[in-house]
Amino acid sequence: MRRKLEITITHLYPDHMNIYGDLGNVIALYKRCEWRGISVKVEKVGLKGRLPKETDIYFMGGGQDEDQITVFRDLLSKKDDLTEQIEKDVSFLAICGAFQLLGKYFLTGEGKVIEGIGTLDIETRAPDTKVKSRCIGNVVASLNSEIFITERMQLDTIVGFENHSGQTFLGKDVQPLAFILKGFGNNMKDKTEGCVYRNVIGTYLHGSFLPKNPHIADLIILNALERKYEGKFNFDELDDKEEVLAHKDLLQRFNVL
Ligand code: GLN
Repeated sequence: MRRKLEITITHLYPDHMNIYGDLGNVIALYKRCEWRGISVKVEKVGLKGRLPKETDIYFMGGGQDEDQITVFRDLLSKKDDLTEQIEKDVSFLAICGAFQLLGKYFLTGEGKVIEGIGTLDIETRAPDTKVKSRCIGNVVASLNSEIFITERMQLDTIVGFENHSGQTFLGKDVQPLAFILKGFGNNMKDKTEGCVYRNVIGTYLHGSFLPKNPHIADLIILNALERKYEGKFNFDELDDKEEVLAHKDLLQRFNVL
């Protein structure tokens, strides 16, 4: 008999950090587990909430600068616990504003410093608000083949939508998640998109991200299962026709196919 697998997802600041369909990421993780008979629990942790002692996947979405200002001190109060769990390879998907908050700091276009928890070796600065330059639009990027075995994945690109003022630069302790083919990604200069550190994925892609990137959703679930149950898993393939069509639609639109 197959053993019953269980996954817990902890959704951080769902009331403040959740824009451009970010909640869809939690739904995608939930459904892809459920379709495979893996039971899933979703816990929400907001301002003043306590982090769970044990969880399998953290998720935090993006936010306007104001929302980031609302949550960052609270997040700093959770820094030690969160860092300890990340260092023990708990999975974390951080979108845009959340990605910035896991880094060292975000200097806003208004000159405010939003301190991050510094788990990711990244720094983010926005141009002065008077300059009015944001990174907005659809994004296509090719996954970093130095850290992913892309031949074994059903897709080797990621797609999504970005809208951010912050320009993020990666330090040496993190690796780029992907390299930009269309759009901006981390900044307007170096063509990197997102980053990976242990089982943390930070990305600028909303859209929402996981429904259009089912290979990344499965990677996150697989990492979480392998960590929790200390073994290798080969889980059932799902029928991803719709998801792959949605993904490839963007590739076609940008002539990347
Ligand atoms: N407020 C941040 C920025 O503009 C993050 C935006 C977002 O999460 N989409 O860079």
